[in-house]
Amino acid sequence: MFSFSSIQDYHVFLTGNPNGCVTAVGHYLSVIEEKKHLNAFLEIFANDALQQASALDVQRATGKPLGKLHGVVIALKDNLSYKGHKVSASSRMLEGFISIYNATAVEKLLAEGAIIIGRTNCDEFAMGSSSENSAFGPVKNGLDETRVPGGSSGGSAVAVQMGMCMVSLGSDTGGSVRQPADLCGVVGLKPTYGRISRYGLIAYASSFDHIGVFANTVDDAALVLESISGPDEFDSTVSQKPVPNYLAQKEKGKKYRIAYFKETIDHSRLDKEISTQIKSFIDVLKADGHTVEPVDFDLIEYVVPTYYVLTTAEASSNLSRFDGVKYGYQSSVKTTDLTEWYKQTRSEGFGKEVKRRILLGTFVLSAGYYDAYFTKAQQIRHILVDKAKEVFSNYDAIISPTVPTTAFLLNEKAKKDPIEILLADIYTVFANLTGIPGISIPLFKHSNGLPFGLQVLTEHFNEEGLINLSREMTKLKQ
Ligand code: GLN
Repeated sequence: MFSFSSIQDYHVFLTGNPNGCVTAVGHYLSVIEEKKHLNAFLEIFANDALQQASALDVQRATGKPLGKLHGVVIALKDNLSYKGHKVSASSRMLEGFISIYNATAVEKLLAEGAIIIGRTNCDEFAMGSSSENSAFGPVKNGLDETRVPGGSSGGSAVAVQMGMCMVSLGSDTGGSVRQPADLCGVVGLKPTYGRISRYGLIAYASSFDHIGVFANTVDDAALVLESISGPDEFDSTVSQKPVPNYLAQKEKGKKYRIAYFKETIDHSRLDKEISTQIKSFIDVLKADGHTVEPVDFDLIEYVVPTYYVLTTAEASSNLSRFDGVKYGYQSSVKTTDLTEWYKQTRSEGFGKEVKRRILLGTFVLSAGYYDAYFTKAQQIRHILVDKAKEVFSNYDAIISPTVPTTAFLLNEKAKKDPIEILLADIYTVFANLTGIPGISIPLFKHSNGLPFGLQVLTEHFNEEGLINLSREMTKLKQ
């Protein structure tokens, strides 16, 4: 029986198993089959994955140098382009569309020897927090199938949670890696804006979009991050900074200065038990010699509105390319009026949430309202960036809950009150508004039996500190 605990252990296993990669892929294909009712995957690349696996087994036998992710079985969120394979952003709009190139992150995964096993279900165009906005049905949380896995990268989170792959990629525009990681009890890491190239990631809101990683352990997430980060001539927003070795563990034993925003931990929407457990973890950190102090954050009620004004504005522009001519879906309604045909195609091709956001984004950008909404939100974004700088001039990290509640029931929120779902992004959007790196680490279990995480944020390009501190915190909880 194949079993997986970490990439490092898997690599030890491979040294004694000439067919190890094929064995691993066979194992994951059978788990995916067994768990297919969770709807985590939209498509399995079984033949490709098996072929890649046997080629890697052959490569190992020749003694050639191996990639950092040699044989690592990985799933991709359905908004990452993988040449020759379908990609749909879980939308009817792109149904049947086939990628004509690899996303840079995918190119780097393949160059390091990873095996791509399939594409995972998500909220349509990554808009949502429950994976219920997919055009191909909701994803179920593997720990309790009546509940959501979070979103928008719900399929990628469940794939790691239920052992359907070793690690997976998602995208995080306002929390879509950290939030489902929290609700599923896995690690979810979003680096600094510009650390990983966005080339080949289907855009939602370009100045907020990040590729992120799901894994069972902080070190596995760090290794994947290291493998897919770095300069790229296809994305002008990507940083030229060299990528450090995130597993070097340089800060071992360091005592950190950690801040938390009082307003987050005592927020009225926060589940009381999440608040108490995090407060007692703060005591554990202090007892271990770290400094943990409250910091004021009176702008907290502005972060969600600011996020939704700016991201919908960007989305309304980004999604204008889906007109029925260039990509995917085309309405079958006969008309010779081009504008009418665009309207028809877009009305049929996009789901409700996506339409809602295109309308909102168009509204906030319209001449009469631009200054009242878009300009105001940009100003607040600047103030938030200054706030982050101020905090990091005194502290190494900021901690908070990742999500105000544990996983909620399917159909509980989406239909009744869509605003309530948006407000739950309160802890995650700050990192996207400011571009700082963040992680959700699965440290806690609620008395209702469900897991929840701790969010840790550090300053721009301090992924090393983020990873080291997260590793220390995980040890403290063991
Ligand atoms: N829940 C947020 C939204 O709906 C975040 C989505 C994301 O990060 N892609 O926009």
